[in-house]
Amino acid sequence: KTTLFWFRRDLRLEDNTALHYALKSSNNVLPLFIFDDDILDSLPKNDARVSFIHSTLENINKKLTEFGSSLIVKKGSTLNVWKALIQEYNIERVFFNKDYEPYAIKRDLEISELLNSKEIETKSFKDQVIFEENDILKNDNTPYTVFTPFKNKWLKAFDKTVDLSDFKIDTSKFHKHNTPFPTIKDIGFIRSKIRVKHYNLIALKNYDTVRDFPAEDKTSYLSPHLRFGLVSTRKMVEIALETNAVFLSELIWREFFMQILFHFPKVVTDNFKQKYDAIPWRNNEEEFKAWCEGKTGYPMVDAGMRQLNKTGYMHNRVRMVTAGFLCKHLLIDWRWGEAYFAEKLLDYELSANNGNWQWAAGTGCDAAPYFRVFNPAEQLRKFDKNTEYIRTWVEDYDELTYPQPIVEHKLARERAISTYKKALNP
Ligand code: FAD
Repeated sequence: KTTLFWFRRDLRLEDNTALHYALKSSNNVLPLFIFDDDILDSLPKNDARVSFIHSTLENINKKLTEFGSSLIVKKGSTLNVWKALIQEYNIERVFFNKDYEPYAIKRDLEISELLNSKEIETKSFKDQVIFEENDILKNDNTPYTVFTPFKNKWLKAFDKTVDLSDFKIDTSKFHKHNTPFPTIKDIGFIRSKIRVKHYNLIALKNYDTVRDFPAEDKTSYLSPHLRFGLVSTRKMVEIALETNAVFLSELIWREFFMQILFHFPKVVTDNFKQKYDAIPWRNNEEEFKAWCEGKTGYPMVDAGMRQLNKTGYMHNRVRMVTAGFLCKHLLIDWRWGEAYFAEKLLDYELSANNGNWQWAAGTGCDAAPYFRVFNPAEQLRKFDKNTEYIRTWVEDYDELTYPQPIVEHKLARERAISTYKKALNP
């Protein structure tokens, strides 16, 4: 009989909770990954994230071959793939790490029901976060909707309960076999020219002082690695504890938005704060196009959008400026911007993207107040005063000949505030 370990967004052999327990409980563990058509069908054939996942799996497979094993890679609708796997293998148990997105929760329930109905046991584990689901609640047992008290409770609970020691894996217990690893073409995709940068933890000591300056480019670049689980959250928290409290705080923001999505899945489509539903978004398509292409006439917004389009990444400070500009200056529905970021970002994460977009729009749980309207020119003076970042992404940047803004700041600011005000106080 075989135990299957199902890789999903935990693409590593090291410190992997469910994998550790699978190898502990069985002498015959078969590792599996499924390229899910329900997700892939909506992506372009050269999607950079698919390339990244494929090359990460290839590395995992290389390591597995050293242990006399290999990775089973399947592609299809997940339910159909599992139906076929049940026929192909004599499966006793299936282990996986939990995923808290609404789609994943539904999928895992469906698969567990199928497996359980065939008397195959399923075992799921917490791995991508330190605290999940109902681990951190207010004293009245309701979820937190404001970051700072959530963070305080998180830190308190962490001190009391968390053991960061490694979940070691016993490599002798993988199923011995040699299944050829598919090329990206076999999967129906082509390799993207956009590559995920390696993460860098060297500059973290000064994280709090450098993180807001896009030209310094000294943030960790961990986001896609955390997104797909190439690194263990526990290890990153351990490093954060040793190096920089502000960096730790960012990792807690990640968990904050994950628990918001878990407890309030309606945020995927709706404003967290319902009273913002009355905002009459202008949704001008031409202006949206100018924003997407980085042609708004505001160099900081344009540089950010061009960085995103070219590399699949944008610095956090600039994400805040571009998102704020779309929602407030252009009065375009945050859902349009969220969808554009989701398509382009290598680190796209539903919880963080949605949470931060709703923050920028003012509609979110612990959001920027509606009357706070970033001045993109002021942001430029503050965070990129030598226009170094701008010149990296806007070729031939020249302040004197730069195209005129598509909307004048003062007018846009007043329009945003009065529109929000009217919607909130009808
Ligand atoms: P660092 O500054 O080194 O931070 C370390 C890690 O902390 C990040 O990798 C991330 O996991 C977490 N983190 C940092 N800031 C935030 C935050 N504000 N919210 C949640 N987690 C955070 N982050 C994503 O991972 N995926 C997204 O889809 C995403 N969309 C965003 C959309 C908007 C409009 C904004 C304003 C922010 C978004 N962020 C998103 C948050 C943040 O911009 C990125 O996590 C960060 O820029 C990634 O670079 P880094 O790994 O070098 O970050």
